[in-house]
Amino acid sequence: MRQKPLVVISACLAGQRTRYNAALIHSQRLIDFLTERFRLFPVCPEVEAGLPVPREPINLHGSPLVPSLIGVQTGADYTFRVTERCLEILDHLEHDPPSGMVLKSRSPTCAAVTPIPVHDTMGRPSGQALGVFARLARRRFPDVPVADERILSFSPALDGFARVVGAKAYTEAAPPEENS
Ligand code: SF4
Repeated sequence: MRQKPLVVISACLAGQRTRYNAALIHSQRLIDFLTERFRLFPVCPEVEAGLPVPREPINLHGSPLVPSLIGVQTGADYTFRVTERCLEILDHLEHDPPSGMVLKSRSPTCAAVTPIPVHDTMGRPSGQALGVFARLARRRFPDVPVADERILSFSPALDGFARVVGAKAYTEAAPPEENS
């Protein structure tokens, strides 16, 4: 029997207590809908990089093209360790590529659909960027449909996402056409 398509999901959206403030923010309706149709692969690059729960909030700083992850309270630079973990996750996924991704909006690590503010050294907005993991994931798997929980809170969007992900998985699983 064919496996369900794989969907990468931010761990906090999958019901894990990984948020900086230790809050649970998942929607059981979203989890139920997705698990019925897909194999979910929860990832939290921040916690997997060794950051604790709870932890200080993080902002994007520096160049909007390659922003850094900087702690709001301590000014600690988490860029290297989180980016390293992001790359490990993406390398792992090369063995079982995802057919879709559902990533947390407004996160310096996971925001994948709507860019969030990047700050300069004075703390002023200097531009906008996607989250660090989201940017790398979209570059590694450019054809994979991506959504966030805000988009998927609308039923038509959720149905549409499921259709697109299913179609992608089906296309990739289909044997190549023979030349006549
Ligand atoms: S938004 Fe991403 S980095 Fe932040 S808690 Fe959720 S999974 Fe972890």
